[in-house]
Amino acid sequence: MRPPVLCYHRIGGPAELGVTRVARSIFARQMRGLARAGWRTLTLAEFSQRVTRPPSRMPHPELLLSFDDGYASLAEDIYPLLADVGFTATTFLITDYVGRLNTWDVRYTWRRLAHLDWDTIGRWQERGFDFASHTASHPRLTWLSDSEAAAELERSRDTLRHRLGPEAARAVAYPFGARDERIDQLASAAGYELGFGGVRGNGSPLALARLPVYLWDVGSVPFGLRKDGLGWLGRTVAHAAHRCAVGTSVMQGVRSWVSGVRGPRTQHPAPDT
Ligand SMILES: [Zn+2]
Repeated sequence: MRPPVLCYHRIGGPAELGVTRVARSIFARQMRGLARAGWRTLTLAEFSQRVTRPPSRMPHPELLLSFDDGYASLAEDIYPLLADVGFTATTFLITDYVGRLNTWDVRYTWRRLAHLDWDTIGRWQERGFDFASHTASHPRLTWLSDSEAAAELERSRDTLRHRLGPEAARAVAYPFGARDERIDQLASAAGYELGFGGVRGNGSPLALARLPVYLWDVGSVPFGLRKDGLGWLGRTVAHAAHRCAVGTSVMQGVRSWVSGVRGPRTQHPAPDT
């Protein structure tokens, strides 16, 4: 069984609305709860090994904790908190925007947020945190031509390899979780070993599923039936993250993901959505 991959974007809300501290305290409680319950976070290299050679059993429940977009606030209070409980995480960077403001995000939020810069990224990489690609400029890859999508994937990977070394060049998280077989092939051709999509995977290492944490509540019924620890994880970690995808595809993804989880567990065929 492959370890679950949790996907967070931003922890906490805008400071001027006064909710930041509350949301961060919830995240902190969740991480401490997971650590106390024996959960282990994987490095990207360890996760890659689990994907190519899935272990038959795991002595401890394991997960890959991932953050998209690489906001500067991660290094201010999220990474230190994770380090305190012995956790690590993988952050998917929008490489053209490292050290800059989030002008790529202008259609989705009016707020100007800073991204991590290379010095800070380097310091946390030395402490065992992983970094990988979220493309160069965060386009929806499925809307691009072959050459445009390939250029996004290649430019980002070249930057990461040049700045951070080969370990940072092995994985990409597709913006908005938007991928299809064409994008998987372009990612593979660009040199990526792992590709992370939305809530739905297809078994390929270039089309891995991730669970945006705010969706875990929706899956609480099927997860509640599970005895492998995922139910506990689902009930414990909720409401702390934002989108892994946007728009109507979110609810379609939730429905198919929930039926995918529920189907095999209840011995009924999952509906073909
Ligand atoms: Zn993103």
